[in-house]
Amino acid sequence: MPQSEKIKVAFLASEADPLIKVGGLGDVAGSLPKALISLPIELTLGCGLDVRLFIPFHSAIRKNVTADPVGEFFISSTTGPVLAQAYQLASEDLTVYLISGEPVTENEPVYSGDNRADGEKYTFFTLAAIMLMQHLKWKPDIFHANDWHTAAGVYTLSKLRKKSAFFSKTRTVLTVHNLPYMGGGSEPALRHYKIPASRDPGLPQWAKRQPLPLGLSSADQVVAVSPHYAEEIMTPEFGCTLENYLKSRKDSVSGILNGLDLGIWDPMSDNAIFAPFSVQSLKIRSRNKKELKRIFKLKSGNDVPLLIFISRMDHQKGIDLVLDGLKQSLNLPWQAILLGTGNPQLEQACREFQAENPERVRVEIKFDGRLARQMYAGGDMLLMPSRYEPCGLAQMIAMRYGCIPIARATGGLKDTIVDTSNPLNATGFLFEDATGAALSAAIEKAIDLFGKPQLWQIIQTRGMQTDFSWQKSATLYAQTYLSLMEKPL
Ligand code: ADP
Repeated sequence: MPQSEKIKVAFLASEADPLIKVGGLGDVAGSLPKALISLPIELTLGCGLDVRLFIPFHSAIRKNVTADPVGEFFISSTTGPVLAQAYQLASEDLTVYLISGEPVTENEPVYSGDNRADGEKYTFFTLAAIMLMQHLKWKPDIFHANDWHTAAGVYTLSKLRKKSAFFSKTRTVLTVHNLPYMGGGSEPALRHYKIPASRDPGLPQWAKRQPLPLGLSSADQVVAVSPHYAEEIMTPEFGCTLENYLKSRKDSVSGILNGLDLGIWDPMSDNAIFAPFSVQSLKIRSRNKKELKRIFKLKSGNDVPLLIFISRMDHQKGIDLVLDGLKQSLNLPWQAILLGTGNPQLEQACREFQAENPERVRVEIKFDGRLARQMYAGGDMLLMPSRYEPCGLAQMIAMRYGCIPIARATGGLKDTIVDTSNPLNATGFLFEDATGAALSAAIEKAIDLFGKPQLWQIIQTRGMQTDFSWQKSATLYAQTYLSLMEKPL
């Protein structure tokens, strides 16, 4: 089929695995575009999708890839034109554009934590991506932005399409991976790049100049990364004071679960793990636990459950609840390895917990993808007591690797884990309250079941066989694109 007949989707993100990954957004932007272009043609009404990924040319990418220049142009700002340079990644199945320019090279980390600087980089990047599409005469049917970093692009495009024939038919989608991160602090960057404040009377005053709310107010479709999170963001508990506004747009808000790249996350072909295994050879799995315990100098023996935590160490992810829950479970037999980085105080609390329990707790304060894989393959239970969880990938990876999640019943965790109160379908343990006591009670339940290996194996197998593939989710995105294109603007 000629490229021209395909549905053209511009997919913008701040990070994309394997080029650059900081968190779950990197996983999604690395896999969803590929899953979309691989969809069987009958699932896209016979059209097929021409998806192109746009990301900043972060310095960490620069070292590792060859890219060909495809254009240079200027982005208008209040201090004069800013030069943008665009590149196309060589030899990729997916078309990837990398955007550079001073705002990108001046601010090296993917996220510096300073939204004034990050806002400058991402606003520039987003506008340059829009400009590149015109430069290449590649007219997208769908402009798909992700999170606050690229949300201002949705807003810009919604204005542009009223006056530019080029974008007059482009529909916009904004995926919300984490609502509280709205891009506050990047208001000066929006002003710098001449992006006006919203005039939407429904938006609270503070939100009228923040990238994510601008995107939420102007996107043709807002997609939260799980059906439960889509409902939750319309409640006072999770809506960050935008719940009523989002409710007013509820016909344009939906939830699509993130998927997993099953090729990348496969315990049978994962080079990082000690002993590959599958459902058919589940017995081999225990070698991974043994080796992991040996490396961490934890007392050997398969009978003591090995609990793992792999996450950003912050309030959202509930690492404090992990420490509290484990402290309340000291009477039970377990060992634990905690891997993550984040809030320095929480990191320190983990180190102290290790010092207090040297015989059974190990803490690794770093980002280590290889170790994470070894932990998923060798751990018995993943602790994931998130205070909120838009989707969550760690629990899906864990299940795929036979590590059973103990998680809070919130957002995407509720959509992906079936609690043991439903024994015929159970894949893990869900608990309600965001307290150490509730986690401790769930740990106790899990340890009890761990003592019944046949039942444990059934749950493990069920988790490993659950379909977390991107195909399911990509199909839903493709349907979203198609229905938007049918709607009059
Ligand atoms: P987030 O909210 O951070 O995106 P997710 O569960 O959606 O959380 O995705 C986190 C991803 O990052 C998973 O692939 C997880 O394995 C990985 N990850 C998190 N922390 C670490 C770490 N310290 N080392 C290696 N991988 C990590």
